[in-house]
Amino acid sequence: MYDEPAVQEIQISSLKNFLLETFHADVEIKKCVFNNLDGKTMERISGCRIFDPKMPFKKHLPNKQEIDFEKNVCKDTKLMEKTIMVEDAGRIEDVVMYDGFEVQNIIYNVITENDSNPNNLHIVFTNKLTCTYDTADSRYHGRTVICSNPAIISTTGMIEAPARPREYYFEAMKCKTQGLDIQDVKKNYAGKFLDYHDKRLSKIAEGYLLQAVFYYMTGDVFCGSLDCRLNNAHWQKDLLHSQLKIGKLCNKHQALLDN
Ligand SMILES: [Zn+2]
Repeated sequence: MYDEPAVQEIQISSLKNFLLETFHADVEIKKCVFNNLDGKTMERISGCRIFDPKMPFKKHLPNKQEIDFEKNVCKDTKLMEKTIMVEDAGRIEDVVMYDGFEVQNIIYNVITENDSNPNNLHIVFTNKLTCTYDTADSRYHGRTVICSNPAIISTTGMIEAPARPREYYFEAMKCKTQGLDIQDVKKNYAGKFLDYHDKRLSKIAEGYLLQAVFYYMTGDVFCGSLDCRLNNAHWQKDLLHSQLKIGKLCNKHQALLDN
């Protein structure tokens, strides 16, 4: 499990305990996977950025400025917070986004170079906003977890991928067109969706860890029941319900774990 030091709220050592108690397997915490990459690898990661969410992935040829940005943000992931956030973006293209599968491929090479044991599942936390292209509606969507080995869990994805209430977007939009600060609108919805550095991120991260590990063990992704932590939430309301209010697996998945 690779830490994302910019988001202390995930509480990586609590997550380790959670995995130990749940799966009775050895768990090791490693440093942020992006911290010690070579120049070429960081350049390749820069090439995974998405600039047009309506187009399928096309390898981006990064310019010097983008490569420098990637190098800085890999060394100090906290710098990602200085980029434009989704809620502040005039155009979604202004947000730094990455194709999750492409990043996964690159990280796979980095990790397997250092650890060739195929029996180890690697889970990478990152504050990069990972996205995947959906052919059903021909556009990219934010995605919190890429279930694979290595699996990637995006803390920004937890906040941005499941949607906030429709009324919130409506009010925030109205506020923006009037040139007002959306913070007042956010206050009206306090607690109803995750925000940056939310104290609840650690509990939420547990759910995504479960999804990554279950996928690794069974090849099965997600659960249709909202009352299960393997539910793939499309709304913040559902995410908070499955992970906090319910906070456990459905009977079927609990049985899989017990056997
Ligand atoms: Zn289930």
